[in-house]
Amino acid sequence: MKTALVHSKEWSRFDYGPEHPLRMERLGLTWRLMEAYGLTTLPTAKVLAPEPAALDAIARFHAREYIEILKEASAGRGGLQAARYGLGPGDNPIFPGLWEAARLVAGGSICAASLVAQGQFDRVFHFAGGLHHAMPNRASGFCYVNDAVLAIMKLRERGWRVAYVDIDAHHGDGVQFAFYDDPNVLTISTHERGDRLFPGTGFVAEVGEGDGRGFSVNLPLQPYTDDEVYQPAFEAVVPPLLRAFNPDVMVLQLGIDSHRTDPLTHLALTVQGFTNVVRQLLEMAPRVVALGGGGYDLPNVARAWTSAWAAMNDVALAETLPNECRADLAGLGLKVQSLSDPPMELPEDTRRWAEEYARRQVAAIRKDIFPLHGL
Ligand SMILES: [Zn+2]
Repeated sequence: MKTALVHSKEWSRFDYGPEHPLRMERLGLTWRLMEAYGLTTLPTAKVLAPEPAALDAIARFHAREYIEILKEASAGRGGLQAARYGLGPGDNPIFPGLWEAARLVAGGSICAASLVAQGQFDRVFHFAGGLHHAMPNRASGFCYVNDAVLAIMKLRERGWRVAYVDIDAHHGDGVQFAFYDDPNVLTISTHERGDRLFPGTGFVAEVGEGDGRGFSVNLPLQPYTDDEVYQPAFEAVVPPLLRAFNPDVMVLQLGIDSHRTDPLTHLALTVQGFTNVVRQLLEMAPRVVALGGGGYDLPNVARAWTSAWAAMNDVALAETLPNECRADLAGLGLKVQSLSDPPMELPEDTRRWAEEYARRQVAAIRKDIFPLHGL
């Protein structure tokens, strides 16, 4: 198993602003925890720094006029026009260097995809990536360019069948949109139900169109869905579809805003629940390009992506967090200094509602989508 970690030290240069929940610090924090666990110097893994993507590479998905607006806004010349493209105060602020940041995230994911496409590596992780909401001509949900779409396009150049699995708490709407009519790209997204959470989409009925019918799959979940409810629902849907589709390569979006302490969402997964799902997914394709995604409780981001990277390398980690990182993580609110989360009991009714909701979604997917795959 040859693996690579794509990581840039440049991220600390950028800042969405003091009020914004997406903190660039989470990337440095993740890197330091990986380092403390010895995961950045593994004999079988390479660490590579990405180059910023070329404008033409980004224009494969994004409209040229939108790219021009990103460049202008980044240089402090946004003007009133920018608001028409989703830019401005709020989710997608205009900050100095935003175009450079967008090029860097796109470059990292395209680099990860290229390394796998060229056969140099079997599993590559670019945890700064996974900005799955960006649309061709619009910034959305903290995402300016859709690096996940660009990575999939790169893999498609080889003619490979690509499965995209997105376990972020939000629907992977930008990626679904990009490949909605393409039967060579199977997109599966599990997320908090769209009538409760941004971006408001990702219902079971969104199944793809034309030749792509049956190749967009959505498993929406009720607030407070925990590991116990998530795991069986995931297993009922995702592995059978992946086996039927038989991808050459899988792109994973590993947002960890599904965690029970995430301030922006209402799912209730733990780091160990997340990691179990990642382990299962890794077994389901011969090659994997893994990306990050959401995650707004910073210690969770570091613990989850460190665990995911360990899983990609078949390395077992000590449960107790390394000394070097403890003060950092405690300062950011981590109460128990362990990789896994302590158990939490949900009120019985809450779990029953979540279970009941998940059961109905799974039944609908099995009825409407499974037959399209001969299941
Ligand atoms: Zn998210």
